[in-house]
Amino acid sequence: MRQSQLFTKTRKEAPKDEASKNARLLIQAGFIEKVMAGVYSYLPLGLRVLNKVENIIREEMNSIGGQELFLTSLQDPEIWQRSGRWDDEAIDVWFKTKLANDSEIGLATTHEEPIAKLMVEHIRSYKDLPVYAYQFQTKFRNELRAKSGIMRGREFKMKDLYSFNKNEENFREFYEECAQAYARIFSRVGVGDKTYRTFASGGSFSKFSDEFQTISDAGEDIIYIDKDKNIAVNEEVYEDSVLEELDLKKENLVKEKAIEVGNIFPLGTKYAEAMDLFYNDESGEKRPVTMGSYGIGPGRLVGAVVEIFSDEKGMVWPDSIAPFKAHIILVDTENKEQSRAANQIYKELTNKNIEVLFDDRNISAGEKFADSDLIGIPHRITIGKKFLESDLIEYTERATGGSREMTEEELLSILVN
Ligand code: ATP
Ligand code: MG
Repeated sequence: MRQSQLFTKTRKEAPKDEASKNARLLIQAGFIEKVMAGVYSYLPLGLRVLNKVENIIREEMNSIGGQELFLTSLQDPEIWQRSGRWDDEAIDVWFKTKLANDSEIGLATTHEEPIAKLMVEHIRSYKDLPVYAYQFQTKFRNELRAKSGIMRGREFKMKDLYSFNKNEENFREFYEECAQAYARIFSRVGVGDKTYRTFASGGSFSKFSDEFQTISDAGEDIIYIDKDKNIAVNEEVYEDSVLEELDLKKENLVKEKAIEVGNIFPLGTKYAEAMDLFYNDESGEKRPVTMGSYGIGPGRLVGAVVEIFSDEKGMVWPDSIAPFKAHIILVDTENKEQSRAANQIYKELTNKNIEVLFDDRNISAGEKFADSDLIGIPHRITIGKKFLESDLIEYTERATGGSREMTEEELLSILVN
């Protein structure tokens, strides 16, 4: 991609009306646009990052047998009344609206009810189980506060997977597989060493759910971590009886602020019973399906990465989710030789399927470097006078700021992996 063609522009200054670092930087760099509080559009650079995060999640969900589908945002109150969740007291973040004929409908905050109802058509016998279905879908939540940028949207995408098993035992096996897939997702996205599986409240279905919490001062949650055991407890369930049950000792726990990037939930047979989702077992007996739900907010995860890895100059993307892998800076666009050399390297890298942003704009080198730092592409290649003199490429790693000169071969060994 030639930067001269990229329609988004960086801003000189961060927006003043944003409290969160992730929104300030993402807006300043032209990754997102704020529509109103808690509502953000993704622009080309931001969408590239979001899509990469989603693809990592998709690969891991497929690897444990997930099948992708796409449910609707508009919701029929009737099925939510069956489970008792149409009430604003049961779900306090509902957006509700009306059809032209005045009948009420909802905008989905989550999808347990509609997917359980959908499965009634498809799950009849034990032979139809298990089913693992997931989607990337817009959720609407009338969040009270929306001060955390894309980490707490009133409209946001969620990956939500729902598991359908014969019994609690099969469910638990899958639940653990999914927890491991989550750990792989967070480490591929670059926050694995800061993310802890965390005991949290289980809602009405089970004693605990498992959250995945990433340590960050920007987090809205407080967790207590046992680093040796690699697990944590959310403050909402932090009490003596729980610690005892989990065999955790207060003196081994470290208190941290954290961002809830994912949450997995045992649902038991509550929704199956509400939606009449039963199957005939091996002996012909009718049994309710055991369900679980598994959420990740890809946008919240992108926001968390910005919060954790940015520095005073801007964002720093891990290779796995960077909008582009390499950023070519052509120092002097007017210089024909430099321009020819930069274009050639751009072509060569692109031909090798390396994603490159090529700053071919006719602006000062200083502005280009400042933008490059702000945008945060992990590997920078500077083509200027030095290159023409020595044939060596000036390479800068965004994360460390370290620069060195290298041959094209060396550069390729960094970029191709
Ligand atoms: P929170 O406690 O932060 O409000 P939640 O527990 O209500 O979140 P879940 O219903 O468990 O959220 O949703 C699953 C995942 O979706 C969360 O772990 C988070 O990654 C993401 N998520 C939830 N709410 C939002 C939001 N408002 N904006 C962006 N992502 C969100
Ligand atoms: Mg949650």
